[in-house]
Amino acid sequence: MLHNLLHLFDLSILDIIDFLLVWYIFYQVLKIFRGTRAPYMLLAITIFAFIAIIAQILNLSALNWIIDAFKTVGLVALVIVFQPEIRRALTSLGQSRLYRMITRAPEIPLDEIVDAVYWLRDMGYGALVVIQNRMGLQEFVEEGVELDAVVSALLIETIFYDDNPLHDGAIIIREDRILSAGVRLPRSSHLPDPLLGLRHEAAVGITEQTDAIAIVVSEERQTVRYAFKGQLSAPLEKEELLRRIEEILYGKE
Ligand code: ATP
Ligand code: MG
Repeated sequence: MLHNLLHLFDLSILDIIDFLLVWYIFYQVLKIFRGTRAPYMLLAITIFAFIAIIAQILNLSALNWIIDAFKTVGLVALVIVFQPEIRRALTSLGQSRLYRMITRAPEIPLDEIVDAVYWLRDMGYGALVVIQNRMGLQEFVEEGVELDAVVSALLIETIFYDDNPLHDGAIIIREDRILSAGVRLPRSSHLPDPLLGLRHEAAVGITEQTDAIAIVVSEERQTVRYAFKGQLSAPLEKEELLRRIEEILYGKE
């Protein structure tokens, strides 16, 4: 029966597998790009492809010429426009088991960081501390004032203390160094709680694009939360924060 049906449409099992594979890849790509501009762009590209096919069939040489020129430029433009999405796709790849197996978790002086963060909270200061995980953050580091200083609770406290010129923005930590301060991070497109402001949005933003962990101290609410993979935690106390971050960095998955 099935065989007859397939014969009727001139399909082979391979065609069906082919189709299912395309569908599966398409679905996965859409899932990665969910909530971004990608679906609209996909629609635009489909329309473009449609026009290109028609131009070819009807042999419209002027239109063909323009389309040909656009194809090359368009590809480069797509890569630029979709840089955040491409990064996100690579990030999810970077969080795969294989990537974790071939890379090493960073060694971070978490005690110093956490001590500073809770001191700042208790003193009523705001702060944003980004901890580099397995993915490099060089392009963000360059946005700020480069320091390359050994991490210590005192230094972190000093940076965010009162109206110190460096207190605005985030610090980025790799291993035992504070690479830079005053970093303006990319903001998230969505925030779970609309009452939270720009600092929290920036904390979520950096973790959407990279596998970093961002600790955010709210000046207004005197709370400490962390963001990871685009999710913001509830306000946490010291031991719980430490436990969760250690779990992310060193826990088995
Ligand atoms: P808080 O709870 O501490 O007030 P918030 O989430 O309400 O934080 P805002 O009040 O909007 O945030 O901003 C507070 C500070 O956050 C700013 O003064 C600035 O230092 C920092 N900040 C704002 N945007 C960014 C950004 N894109 N990257 C890094 N830091 C930022
Ligand atoms: Mg605020």
